[in-house]
Amino acid sequence: MTINQSQSQSPIPIPINIAIIGAGLTGLITADLLEQAFKRQNRPITITIFEKSAGVGRLATRYQTPPTDAISTKHWQFDFGAQYFTAKTAAFQAYLQPWLDSGIIEPWQAVVAVLDSDAIVDKAVQPTITAQWGSAQHEQPRYISSPKMTTWGRAIAKKLTHSTIHYKTRVSPLADNTVVNASKTPLVDIEGNQLGEFDWVICTAPQAQAIDLLANSDFAQQDALKTPTMLACYTLMLGWKSLSAMPQRLHDAKWSVLECKVADNADHSSHVNSRISCLGKVFIEHHKPNRDHLLPSITIYADNDWSQAHVDDDIREVQDQLLDAVQHLVQWDDSSAPAHIDCHRWRYAATKANHATGRQLAYVDSKKHWIVTGDWCDAGRIESGYKAASHVVQLLVEA
Ligand SMILES: Cc1cc2nc3c(=O)[nH]c(=O)nc-3n(C[C@H](O)[C@H](O)[C@H](O)COP(=O)(O)OP(=O)(O)OC[C@H]3O[C@@H](n4cnc5c(N)ncnc54)[C@H](O)[C@@H]3O)c2cc1C
Repeated sequence: MTINQSQSQSPIPIPINIAIIGAGLTGLITADLLEQAFKRQNRPITITIFEKSAGVGRLATRYQTPPTDAISTKHWQFDFGAQYFTAKTAAFQAYLQPWLDSGIIEPWQAVVAVLDSDAIVDKAVQPTITAQWGSAQHEQPRYISSPKMTTWGRAIAKKLTHSTIHYKTRVSPLADNTVVNASKTPLVDIEGNQLGEFDWVICTAPQAQAIDLLANSDFAQQDALKTPTMLACYTLMLGWKSLSAMPQRLHDAKWSVLECKVADNADHSSHVNSRISCLGKVFIEHHKPNRDHLLPSITIYADNDWSQAHVDDDIREVQDQLLDAVQHLVQWDDSSAPAHIDCHRWRYAATKANHATGRQLAYVDSKKHWIVTGDWCDAGRIESGYKAASHVVQLLVEA
């Protein structure tokens, strides 16, 4: 009996079919690392990413062009999610290198200042320069994506070859799949459309959303998901039509990043300190590399604990309070008041620092083939998202 060639070949392996919920950096980097790992092992893979919004997660950039401004085609630009990130581990540095080479990621050697608490009590709110990022060995480099923070996420999405991203697709809460077929999970969107059946589901939604997604699914680690605590953050975005229109203190600022935390030993009952205690950090957007084309733009981050305490307040009241604090800090009058004002509420911005012990980079149900992860499983930073992604890829490669 003769065997024809097709019969003699080993069967073509069926690709493992993976769903990722969330196209934030954790989801995108997970897809990128999975593609790389499976390619190295010559194993086929198909990845589908579902993202409820139109963008790439909490990397966010907002623009605004001055209305009826005939003299300028310039715009204000605010990276109002993550402003910058660190790369402390060798693995993350290696992952970043091609992006650094391409110029999409670049170091930001920002000059940093802090408020001098004694000076605040004297009403003369003067920042003291304390550091320049990346300028010395003990000063970690900080990185940004150029020309805006969203650029990097979009570039990772574009690079993926075995992944399809469905934006504006909100995945419905998962149902217990063990009663149907534990090795496959059917996903449905909130409009009831079938999204496919998957060998593994990786959820990278922020913590509260992950808890909701799995609430009635009998997920093995449901209780553990509640361990970390996330905090909110309000961001206030201010723009001026020209440098000369800015208040003197901002125009002359020798710093690009201002830390506003009132020192513990400061007089917290003082009127000035209590007025500015809602502030966290101020970033001058047009000081960043590759932002020379911008109209003067600054983004102010409210203090996380303050934001959490006011998370359900009316956003206009929050905006007014933050404006009052910044006005106090940089002292504008009618002629130097900002021409553009915008405020955004992030309900899940940062992981509370007390989450230092018992960190778990991913929550796994190996029977259902579900993994829950995200930056919030670690320190709530971009580097945390990378750590979580690498950990998940390791788990899947071993599985
Ligand atoms: C105000 C603010 C300041 C920050 N500052 C810094 C900083 O200075 N340095 C730093 O390193 N990091 C900072 N971060 C954190 C940084 O933005 C994140 O670590 C990073 O973007 C990675 O996030 P992620 O992918 O884990 O989550 P996300 O970016 O939140 O992505 C999760 C995605 O899941 C999607 N999703 C949720 N539910 C569903 C569903 N049911 N169906 C489909 N999609 C869903 C969401 O829309 C979201 O896009 C900051 C974040 C905020 C908000």
